[in-house]
Amino acid sequence: MTVLPNSLHARDIAYQIHPYTNMRRHERNGPIVIERGSGIHVYDDQGREYIEGLAGLWSVAVGFGESRLVEAAARQMAKLPYYHTFTHKSNEPSIELAEKLATMTPDGLDHVFFTNSGSEANDTVVKLAWYYNNALGRPEKKKFIARNGGYHGITIASGSLTGLQVNQRGFDLPLPFVKHVTCPHHYRFAEAGESEEAFADRLAAELEATILAEGPETVAAFIGEPLMGAGGVLVPPRTYWEKVQAVCRRHDVLVVADEVINGFGRLGTLFACEHFGIQPDMLVVSKQITSSYQPLAAVVVSDAIYQAIADQSERLGTFGHGFTASGHPVATAVGLENLAIIEERGLVANAAKVGAHLQARLRAFADHPLVGEVRGVGLIAAVELVADKASKAKFDPPGKVGFRFFEKAHEHGLIIRAIQDSIAFCPPLIITEAQVDEMIDRFARTLEDIQ
Ligand code: PLP
Repeated sequence: MTVLPNSLHARDIAYQIHPYTNMRRHERNGPIVIERGSGIHVYDDQGREYIEGLAGLWSVAVGFGESRLVEAAARQMAKLPYYHTFTHKSNEPSIELAEKLATMTPDGLDHVFFTNSGSEANDTVVKLAWYYNNALGRPEKKKFIARNGGYHGITIASGSLTGLQVNQRGFDLPLPFVKHVTCPHHYRFAEAGESEEAFADRLAAELEATILAEGPETVAAFIGEPLMGAGGVLVPPRTYWEKVQAVCRRHDVLVVADEVINGFGRLGTLFACEHFGIQPDMLVVSKQITSSYQPLAAVVVSDAIYQAIADQSERLGTFGHGFTASGHPVATAVGLENLAIIEERGLVANAAKVGAHLQARLRAFADHPLVGEVRGVGLIAAVELVADKASKAKFDPPGKVGFRFFEKAHEHGLIIRAIQDSIAFCPPLIITEAQVDEMIDRFARTLEDIQ
């Protein structure tokens, strides 16, 4: 596209640094400026319409242009636009949302700490685990175990938990308190002829060996996304989580479920913990909590963790952690309204029903010569494109075809995310079967173009 002098596009190039962007390429091509949205669609400033096949960044559950969220924000803005939750202050929406989360989340998770982003929430997880173990008089128990391919954010601590090269290369991460173990993606990491069950056994044994090699007295927690999102929509073997949990319990290692993408219905269950039978000690949520109309994330912890850190805060005089916007009244008011919409419109059930349709439609591409694997659960899925179907060989360099797909899809009115050469789908939870069909048609036309 030609970038006209002084246009919005030229000013974007001149002044804004974009996340996850090759900046020199951006200077040459300019941005796609999204101007407005309605339902599952967004529109750019050239008047082009797109299906938002990734719900923004895996987040706009109730769709774009939801007036109830606009009104909830405006009402709260007029009444109390800001207040903090430091040092015994509180506000009504943050109290109501904390109570709601304690009620909704799996049994045993009852206390909520609010942050602005998923990265801050995972930094909070690390600090809570450290504070907790200091409180219990075991200052050595500080290491985290995460997985290659996992995504937990990009701040110094959460970026260390993340197991993706793209977030670490050039940034001197990860810090040494994190050890990464094998990614539970059978298609890529199973040995020849290894069943899903045997693969899960091997990964649980690897986790146990890692804990023993580090010394259980030095390992605080294991963190994972129940279904890995940003690493490529990677579904673990059915029994992986129960095996991993048993290992963690044996060595007194906390289990942290990062449901920043999975939470609030994405897999067709309210939380992915239900789908995989996980009973975490800490749960991290964000994104769909407000449909990302406001920045908000939360860490929900067990009573045992809460009691230990509460005692420690008394010993030390305070719990010295928190953000200016922790429990922000507008963000939490929008969160409450958004969760009410998810419940009233039955969007979790919709994700299960329409998700089954999405999965079936995508699996019809499994025989396509460019398709290595189709995977997903509910309304999250990926189609992995490969250079050679039989050997599963990746393109050289990896991501080359995925990026071409990402760009071509725009011409067909489709926004997806290309994770290397995996094409990820994560549409708003309000999507209908007919809209899934339209999205798949646009996907198929793009696939034809890139062959
Ligand atoms: N955890 C998971 C599972 C995520 O997918 C993300 C973002 O995509 C994060 C954490 C980080 O969230 P944020 O981008 O809000 O910092």
